[in-house]
Amino acid sequence: MELKFLIDPKYVFLHAINQNQHKEPFKGWGNFTMKIWDKYPQECYLLAGYSEWSIITKSRFSTIAKNAEKLLNVWLKTDPVKKLLNETEKYKNWLEKEWSQKGQNALNELEEITKSSLPQQTISIYVTHPKLNNGMAIDTKTIVWGHTEDWKNYSIVYLCHEIMHIVFWNTKSSTSHATIELATDNELRIRLNKKGRYFREGKFDIGHNKLREVEKKLLPRWKKYLENPKMNIKQFIQK
Ligand SMILES: [Zn+2]
Repeated sequence: MELKFLIDPKYVFLHAINQNQHKEPFKGWGNFTMKIWDKYPQECYLLAGYSEWSIITKSRFSTIAKNAEKLLNVWLKTDPVKKLLNETEKYKNWLEKEWSQKGQNALNELEEITKSSLPQQTISIYVTHPKLNNGMAIDTKTIVWGHTEDWKNYSIVYLCHEIMHIVFWNTKSSTSHATIELATDNELRIRLNKKGRYFREGKFDIGHNKLREVEKKLLPRWKKYLENPKMNIKQFIQK
């Protein structure tokens, strides 16, 4: 057996910009990749989504892209995909109804919690299958969403969470994300459900594990903030 060591520049590059890559090869790389992802998100997804393509196949990317598009149209017509779409459609109808019944009230509560008025704008919610977890604001007017209803008002609470990401698009610090979780995952959930406690709902932990420590540190200040009519959420984050 013999080992041959190779470098494929495309692969080295694509591997380093893959979104699952949380480490930096050197200082400044993160900034560089963030810039290209922000400017060309679709192209980056396509190129880096499965970065190994560049070493497994020697064909040009344009050939793969063309083939992929053809296959996509074929697959869309198959029975499993029809079933997937059918179930997603049913879920979308449920979600629409749920939001039409409870959305406005949730937004009112959110304005009370943030002590700010929410911008008048339309946000598109692209719905995916409810048994596959999804939930993300992908730009300043688009949310992708689909999730099991783990507890009462789950979708309402997390749609509000993603709306907050859109409102605070320009602040991506862990403090602002932790504050979003305090405001929506916790305070809003408890208000809507008229019961519950911070960081736990039934058998579920609430919020991202990584942020919970930050949130617990912020909590005393957050409780004071809620009782202080003179401070809004932006001021809370900035402090
Ligand atoms: Zn979030």
